[in-house]
Amino acid sequence: DPALVLGESHSPDSGFNYEFNNGTHRANATLLMLVRNSELEKAMQSVRELEEKFNRQFGYPWLFLNNVPFSKEFKEEMSKVVSGPATFAMIPPHHWYQPDWIDEDKATKSRDKMVEENIIYGGSVSYRNMCRFNSGFFYRHPLLQQYKWYWRVEPDVHFHCDVDEDPFLYMEEHNKVYGFTITLLEFEKTIATLWPTVKEFMAENPQYVAEENSMGYLSEDGGETYNLCHFWSNFEIADMDFWRGEAYSKFFDYIDAKGGFYYERWGDAPVHSIAASLFLQKDQVHFFDEIGYEHHPFTHCPHGPGMIRKKHCTCRGWRSFDYQGYSCMRKWERIHK
Ligand code: GDP
Ligand code: MN
Repeated sequence: DPALVLGESHSPDSGFNYEFNNGTHRANATLLMLVRNSELEKAMQSVRELEEKFNRQFGYPWLFLNNVPFSKEFKEEMSKVVSGPATFAMIPPHHWYQPDWIDEDKATKSRDKMVEENIIYGGSVSYRNMCRFNSGFFYRHPLLQQYKWYWRVEPDVHFHCDVDEDPFLYMEEHNKVYGFTITLLEFEKTIATLWPTVKEFMAENPQYVAEENSMGYLSEDGGETYNLCHFWSNFEIADMDFWRGEAYSKFFDYIDAKGGFYYERWGDAPVHSIAASLFLQKDQVHFFDEIGYEHHPFTHCPHGPGMIRKKHCTCRGWRSFDYQGYSCMRKWERIHK
């Protein structure tokens, strides 16, 4: 139903002028949450926190996406906690479900094997749909066409510090394309053939690889093998023109055709991260140190001097994940000295 894809909007009379905020220009951006009806409570807690720490000053719109229609309760309850307009829309089914050309026998065997190996979400088809959607489809949704920037928000996350400077405008003014807060290692078994596929793509399309890329963050041996480092994509502030551009579009089609979203369990985090690291100049990827952020089980708390106090953070530096064993912060830092 096209009407469900175009969704339903609620505009609170919050007094915001949606082009300008306190006399300053606003970025062409939306807050974006993919969410299930059953996650209403957790989603509201994320939205409340981001509103309190950031958006009540800025009034950016929210877009909620779902693979099934949102319930009346979801729309009503959520509309009460947002400061900007909120839209609730459905994902076109062909952007979500497993494509026909996937060999279901092969996919089933791989899921069964991952269940035996105790791989997280190893047996889940819906998780795979979600990962493929977040990798290659969300930015094609009709309601996202009007926007350049998005901030991905998940249910049940925490924002620990005041975000009193507009991160979208920061990105725009500093020529940034992809922003993250947490970087860590992927489970190798979920992406066994992803890196060989990436290398094949690079060999066939060397023109897309940026000169000043971030290969030194992704690999210990100049690209021969992948060190499993990626940006944790449950938080992303990024420019959709990158995903919509030629390099990423070709890259996504190439890797999608290998079927690894279903024959393995390729995540949108390594897919986005590898693309951003290879096709962007390293200075176009931005680490938002000052945004304190938590998604179970990891927290990033700012390490810049005086930042925790200045931004009134409710996290403590010692809780930060950045220099723990599983983090890739040091790999990031070694290429940004
Ligand atoms: P994790 O963070 O990797 O453990 O995965 P989550 O369960 O948090 O899922 C990632 C995001 O996708 C969250 O925003 C979820 O609400 C959303 N999500 C996952 N599966 C589905 C689904 O089947 N339908 C919808 N509508 N959202 C989903
Ligand atoms: Mn999550």
